[in-house]
Order: sequence, then structure tokens, then C-alpha cells
Amino acid sequence: MKIWNNFTKTVNVPAEGIKLEGEEPSIRDKYRDDIERVLISKGCLKKRVEHLASEVADAFEEVKEVNCLVVLKGGMFFASDLIRLIDDETELRTRIDFIQASSYYDKSTTSGRVKLRESGLLKGENILLIEDIVDTGGTLKRLQDYLREKGKFFKTCVLLDKGLPKSPGLELDFVGFNIPNEFVAGYGLDYAGMYRGMPEIVIVKKELLK
Ligand code: 5GP
Ligand code: MG
Repeated sequence: MKIWNNFTKTVNVPAEGIKLEGEEPSIRDKYRDDIERVLISKGCLKKRVEHLASEVADAFEEVKEVNCLVVLKGGMFFASDLIRLIDDETELRTRIDFIQASSYYDKSTTSGRVKLRESGLLKGENILLIEDIVDTGGTLKRLQDYLREKGKFFKTCVLLDKGLPKSPGLELDFVGFNIPNEFVAGYGLDYAGMYRGMPEIVIVKKELLK
């Protein structure tokens, strides 16, 4: 089965996970009891992020700068790899700003509300919104509405998409990987603050998730 096309398009990750030829992902002993399996290997992440950086650079070429808005905290490693590649390999200037989004679930309704906490001035007109993962899209939709209110132009880059039905009006410009509907961690993503530092995307054992 051909899973990707030279990593230049969104990569569809099968349930058993992906790795590069010859790559042997292994979980360190300290995490072995917590992790079910590696879903996306270190090598695959690196390769795809390199392609995403060039896709983003092409899209922002005309405006000559990329004003990155990193969604904390899960997007931290993805954003840092992506932005360093853009700055290191292209003529585009970059700015970096952060925003934190937290969901609150109102007991009386089924819909979640997303609260934003900004940090900084968000300079520049053309924003690249960088997020770790999109599930229902509620969080990203809230962030996109916020940028629209501020009169910004933006493109949205997410590392992982669970492929579930999305909030109406959500725009995704760059997607790293389409993944199965499983709870994942690693490469910035956590469960209860843990596993962010793992170099690959992993599936946490179900019995651990409360
Ligand atoms: P959405 O608003 O799209 O339904 O959910 C997106 C947010 O939920 C993400 O920004 C992330 O914080 C969290 N999230 C969704 N799925 C996962 C997952 O599999 N693992 C982790 N660590 N966080 C997730
Ligand atoms: Mg997030």
C-alpha cells in the first residue's frame, strides 16, 4: 500500500503506524508500560515537517514574512522545528507569538467553550496559526474567529488531523498527517502533562486514560 507521495501531500497514517524504511522505533524502558505503540516515527515526523516548511514558505513568499502564532502547549515542538526550518532555509523573515486555548465544558450544554489567553502583541498582518492536533475543530475555529476579529489574514497549519466531522467554517491549509481516532501523545502532545518530550507520536494505553 502506498501511504504517502514523497511526503509532499498529507500522509494517511494507518492504525499500525508508520516509520521510514530501515527505521526501528522503540519506546524507552521508562515509558514502556504506558505506551501501546509508536504511531508516527521520528524520521517520518522530520521528513513531513520539512515538506510542510516548504509548503508554508511557498504560500507566504509574496508577503516576505511569516508571523507565527503558536498554540500552546501542544504545538511547541512542531512549531519550533517548522519555524527554524523556515528561517534557516528560506528568505522569509519570521516572528513568533504564542496563544493558549483551553476548553471548558458547560454542564448544561453539550458544546464546549474555548477560552483564549494571548501573550504579546501579534504584530504583522499575515499570520501562520500553528496547532498540534485537530479533532472536532472547535479550538481552531475559535482561534480563527479571533484572528478574523483582529482583521488578520491567516493560514492554518496543523500537524495531526483525526479526520472527524469538523466545526462548520473551519479552514485547514496545511495538514501534516491524517491519523486514526486514537488518543495520541509525544512530540509536544501530552497526557496529564506527561510524554510531551517523547520524539515520536505514540498511542497511550487505554487503561491509563481516565
Ligand atoms: P478540538 O477542539 O479540535 O476538538 O480538539 C483539539 C484540542 O484537543 C487540541 O488542541 C488538543 O489540545 C486536544 N486533543 C485532541 N485530541 C488529542 C489527542 O489525541 N491527544 C492530545 N494530547 N490532545 C488532544
Ligand atoms: Mg492544541
